[in-house]
Amino acid sequence: MTISVAIIGSGPSAFYTADALAKSGADCTIDLIERLPAPFGLIRYGVAPDHETTRKVSRAFDKTARGDKVAFFGNTEVGRDVSLAELRQAYDAVVLAVGAPNDRPLGIPGSDKKGVYGSAAFVGWYNGHPDFRALNPDLNVKAAAVVGVGNVALDVARLLVRAKPELEATDMAQHAVDAIAASPVTDVYLLGRRGAQFAAFTIGELREMGELEGASIVIDAATLPTSFDDVPEDDRRIQQKMVEMLRGFADLPKDRPKRVHFRFNTSPKEVLGGDRVEGLRVEKMRTENGRAVGTGETEDIPLGLVVAAIGYRSPRIEGGHFDEQKGLYPNDGGLVEPGLYAVGWAMRGPSGVIGTSKIDGQTVAKHIVEAGAGSGQAGKPGRAALEKLLAARKARRTTYADWDKIDAAEIARARPGAPRLKFPSVEEMLAALGR
Ligand code: NAP
Repeated sequence: MTISVAIIGSGPSAFYTADALAKSGADCTIDLIERLPAPFGLIRYGVAPDHETTRKVSRAFDKTARGDKVAFFGNTEVGRDVSLAELRQAYDAVVLAVGAPNDRPLGIPGSDKKGVYGSAAFVGWYNGHPDFRALNPDLNVKAAAVVGVGNVALDVARLLVRAKPELEATDMAQHAVDAIAASPVTDVYLLGRRGAQFAAFTIGELREMGELEGASIVIDAATLPTSFDDVPEDDRRIQQKMVEMLRGFADLPKDRPKRVHFRFNTSPKEVLGGDRVEGLRVEKMRTENGRAVGTGETEDIPLGLVVAAIGYRSPRIEGGHFDEQKGLYPNDGGLVEPGLYAVGWAMRGPSGVIGTSKIDGQTVAKHIVEAGAGSGQAGKPGRAALEKLLAARKARRTTYADWDKIDAAEIARARPGAPRLKFPSVEEMLAALGR
């Protein structure tokens, strides 16, 4: 009997699950249900525009999407066009592959001021995500802080100091290229609340910071740790390598027009200013047994923009068992409850690189196939039922053939030398389809 599977989302974890199911040999249909008209989620809207190579993984996803078992339901929002309960009724298995697109709040006094953004919003804005088209951050500032010392923080800091021609060669949204190129920003502060031995960067991404043409790195080598005893043994070697790289940055020339300041053991305490950000009060910390402990010593850094790159949360979907505190769907190896699964960041929280969710997809695909074969979770109508429902609701679903058209139109409108220029709104994507 055919196993019908609905996967909510079309980012990496969704595609890895679809691919694993398609290759499992099981008799199944796989429907990818995506809120936006275009597929690929994090690959399209999360990966930094100057990391085009990382986006190449979408070629493999494209092959999966064209497989005969797979269908794409774009512009189809769970909660608007169809409910989770309806999907669970129609499909043998439903997979939550919704990622973690929401910001964790900074939650310090003043963090509601104009000029404070979460990285999901800020990254979405420069990446042309329709949800953040209107963010319109005021970049008429000389200095900015990026809170957090993970790879997203590096992406934001790097893009803020890139020169116009560098940005123009990417698929960055035109509104963001214009705003960043016009910004007088010269100094970006990257703030890590613990010591550098706990920085969450990966080596390749950190190395890139030392190679920026337009920005020098400012780091006080005396603040870098020499002992790594407090770092878990498995991470020690790589963290040591990272700190050595940071130490090397201290010796790089300081002659570039812009600066990225790495500040560790520095925690934001209060956003200063009136309506708008005028500064950030930070507290000097010390790291004890892997934890940041306040020293009471504060400093006010004058700046006009704060981007908090401190992690993400999954969206809560009505009817899915959601852990509000952790911001994910509690599960046992991907199994949320019989017939309902979670993969990727919805399953584990926002950690790991893109390929990490491959293993989640394989695990959950195996569960689904076993449940279908074993306890008879198979035989529900799946696709036919969803198509009927959407037609009755006059939903404006996009298919993968529609995506091909949007894709071609975006490539055709790219700036010279750039891979594409995304349509930054749902309306413009649908207009490219003549709707
Ligand atoms: P992340 O790696 O978890 O880093 C989050 C950072 O925020 C950490 O430094 C964390 O410090 C800090 N933080 C959390 N809460 C804070 C608070 N209240 N105040 C101050 N600092 C706080 O998260 P991410 O950068 O969002 O990245 C998410 C995942 O995507 C990661 O696995 C990352 O490697 C991956 N990614 C990869 C790439 C790439 O490969 N090029 C690009 C982007 C993202 P503590 O450690 O002290 O908690």
